[in-house]
Amino acid sequence: MRFILLGPPGAGKGTQAVRLAERFNVPHVATGDLLRFAVEWKTDIGKLAKSYMDEGELVPDEIVLELLRTRLSRADSADGFVLDGFPRNPAQADALEANLKEIGQKLDAVVSLEVPDDLIVQRLSSRWSCATCGRTFNRPHDAGGTCPYDGMTLFQRSDDRPEVIRKRLNVFHAQTAPLIAYYEKRGLLVHVDGVGTLDEVEERIAKALEAAKA
Ligand code: AMP
Repeated sequence: MRFILLGPPGAGKGTQAVRLAERFNVPHVATGDLLRFAVEWKTDIGKLAKSYMDEGELVPDEIVLELLRTRLSRADSADGFVLDGFPRNPAQADALEANLKEIGQKLDAVVSLEVPDDLIVQRLSSRWSCATCGRTFNRPHDAGGTCPYDGMTLFQRSDDRPEVIRKRLNVFHAQTAPLIAYYEKRGLLVHVDGVGTLDEVEERIAKALEAAKA
């Protein structure tokens, strides 16, 4: 199964991608995670990407495409993957299509995970993450605390500040939302309501994917 989770920041793509990767036994490929690792390790790519990420802007396509190509050339993604946070604009979608064609693969489906903007701002400004286990928790903006699983101090992503959240949402509507029509035209798009419990949303996505694959 090869599919994309498309949706605004805070729609739950990352959380659902982890669940679906396990369910369909495919790797979870998240360009945001690849970029954050690069920033943390201060690689050349990380140094280039950091300022864009801090501002909530898209990192230039060449950088992201290079990271993605390297990741998809690993053996574990030969039989499938779930893409989270990529593509973010039509140029990236074209590059992905060409890349997959070259290796004789194609997408099975693109899931548009839909959540209203006001709920997103609320979700992201109360998102706390654990650097050790990667879990995220919903806590008031100034609460923080430690991870109930491993005791690590929780942190807030630097781009989850309210002004950057607004910026990321604007970038989504201007640059990424056109991909909905892009994939609709190719007959790959499925719409899924992203409001509900994690289990409910996972079931909706899994059903939509199974129907698309059938
Ligand atoms: P995410 O974790 O997907 O919300 O991504 C965090 C940040 O990484 C975004 O705000 C962008 O700055 C950058 N980023 C992640 N994926 C991409 C992509 N496909 N194209 C450009 N920038 C990206």
